[in-house]
Amino acid sequence: MSFRSYSNRQTTLERDIVLKGAGVHSGAEVSLILHPAEANSGYNFYVSGGKNAGHIPGDFRSVTNLTLCTVISGAGGASVATVEHLLSALRGMGIDNADIEVDGNELPILDGSAEPFVAAIEEAGVRELDEARRYIKILRPVAVTDGGSIGEIFPYDGFRLDIEIDFPTPLIGRQRIDLDVTPASFKKHLSRARTFGFMKDVKQLWAAGRALGSSLENTVAIGEDRILNPEGLRYPDEFVRHKTLDAVGDFALAGAAILGLYRSKRPSHKLNSLMLHALYENRDAWTVVEAADKTRRHYVSPRADFGIAFATPNFAPENA
Ligand SMILES: [Zn+2]
Repeated sequence: MSFRSYSNRQTTLERDIVLKGAGVHSGAEVSLILHPAEANSGYNFYVSGGKNAGHIPGDFRSVTNLTLCTVISGAGGASVATVEHLLSALRGMGIDNADIEVDGNELPILDGSAEPFVAAIEEAGVRELDEARRYIKILRPVAVTDGGSIGEIFPYDGFRLDIEIDFPTPLIGRQRIDLDVTPASFKKHLSRARTFGFMKDVKQLWAAGRALGSSLENTVAIGEDRILNPEGLRYPDEFVRHKTLDAVGDFALAGAAILGLYRSKRPSHKLNSLMLHALYENRDAWTVVEAADKTRRHYVSPRADFGIAFATPNFAPENA
């Protein structure tokens, strides 16, 4: 199928994808295998090596740490770190369902962007499944704040991100992007944007035994008065594009594609996660719809009975 627009049917990968590399925080080498998965299964992680093997649902309620990257953990104690760029590639490229197997506790950072995952997805191909694609449709605005960070989600016929950052260094400054996220726009405008860090912070992290896998091969390093990477930037505003890529990955933990506009100033993984929690705590702010008419892109019809079907383990309120 084409990557140009979202299909009205759910998708998965056509075949397995194997990727190898080191985690940016642990420096540990891992093998990552992405497998095709059934409709309505979403993203599921299976840790087959490292500490505490087991299953972790790719769900916002699995998030256990957001300090430096997104860490998710399962009921059995398995955990996996730095899931955000892979999830961004899957959601961004319109892959609804995938089983993700990794023999360690952190995904490989590769080049620090989503591009290697996108290339692998394109190489494997996309399989359309029989079931209609599901969406979380935003019905009214919901807002969250966290320190100086602001997030708000609005009804919108599509998935649109309006992201602004403001760093007090002329090397970044104020940058904003407002983009309808489709597989084509994701690949072109977001997927190649790399993670970034300030050299002074990286040195502190190294001293503390963290960020052990970070290097100019996978991070845009910001020095006192210049970008330290000899190749320079991939986009003039690569920083805000990476923050937008991260938001796509964080929202991939929503359980289904979102029909809404997320507008954020100074977003972080934490803010994006708070946004999802706030959204789901307001039961009148969203509903689940499924794509109905194959001839009209983004056309979706509410299905009253879907609210019940939605109460599957993937979406159920906290198991209480
Ligand atoms: Zn990132």
